[in-house]
Amino acid sequence: ERRAALAASSGPGATSDGHKVPLLANVGGPADVPAAVEAGAEGVGLFRTEFLFLDDSTKAPSEEKQADAYRQVLEAFPEGRVVVRVLDAGADKPLDFLTPSDEPNPALGVRGLRTLLDHPDVLRTQLTALAKAAEGLPVYLEVMAPMVADRLDAKAFADACREAGLQAKFGAMVEIPSAALRARSILQEVEFLSLGTNDLAQYTFAADRQVGAVSRLQDPWQPALLDLVAASAEAAQAEGKSCGVCGEAASDPLLACVLTGLGVTSLSMGAASIPYVRATLAKHTLAQCERAASAARAADTAEDARRAAQAVLSGE
Ligand code: PEP
Ligand code: MG
Repeated sequence: ERRAALAASSGPGATSDGHKVPLLANVGGPADVPAAVEAGAEGVGLFRTEFLFLDDSTKAPSEEKQADAYRQVLEAFPEGRVVVRVLDAGADKPLDFLTPSDEPNPALGVRGLRTLLDHPDVLRTQLTALAKAAEGLPVYLEVMAPMVADRLDAKAFADACREAGLQAKFGAMVEIPSAALRARSILQEVEFLSLGTNDLAQYTFAADRQVGAVSRLQDPWQPALLDLVAASAEAAQAEGKSCGVCGEAASDPLLACVLTGLGVTSLSMGAASIPYVRATLAKHTLAQCERAASAARAADTAEDARRAAQAVLSGE
């Protein structure tokens, strides 16, 4: 029965009453594109470009090599959106030639956008490669920065994009609680937000995402995390801009309904999860998703939040 439901699941993501929630794929490069297309992804919500940087530990890939990989992904979604994240080096994704080796707490050190602002040449090459890759394609390119902490970070990134002559929308990932709390101020500089719930959970709960012993605190159902998602989505709505989710949270079908109810405007996940999320979303109205979201936020623990949302969505 489950297989039949999944087979019947195709087309754009939407609630049963037609509220659209584009379902996008997380990819690491051209090799992940066929699975994304097969799953009916409406585009790419997170292109993790650091995979391109793993071949050589001494320098960044050339502009040509980068442009070639970016173009292959852009060409796969001629009608859709492609959201490319600029290099997110450091912490759980260290790169020898960029990441400081002497920091006591790499997750709190120079990583993500901070690394790129310290190495403007690397950022410039990446943005120029993206501009070249998108040239002449009708695709709707969006480029976002990881680990944006405040408005100054967002402005520095948007300035770098403009200086590189990039014709795209510029966005900020919300992965640090300060960014969620002051999302409206960040949105004065950029055109969209994308919640990286993996890192947002890590920094909200002071719980290293690589340490299994604290995994209870990494649970994306934690009501404090849902509060930060709601704050970001509300800020985006107030500014007339979009706020997606591209962390693991989006791949849990029940949580995807809750995120929709919190006001999130798109969901990006590993391709394999898309049919499940699409099928579950299609069973519930937006109003039910909103009630499930309120019930989850009223809970005190992740487990109770999940149970409360489940109860609302199964009509108990
Ligand atoms: C996240 O932090 O949720 C995210 C999407 O980025 P990554 O997992 O690559 O850090
Ligand atoms: Mg992250």
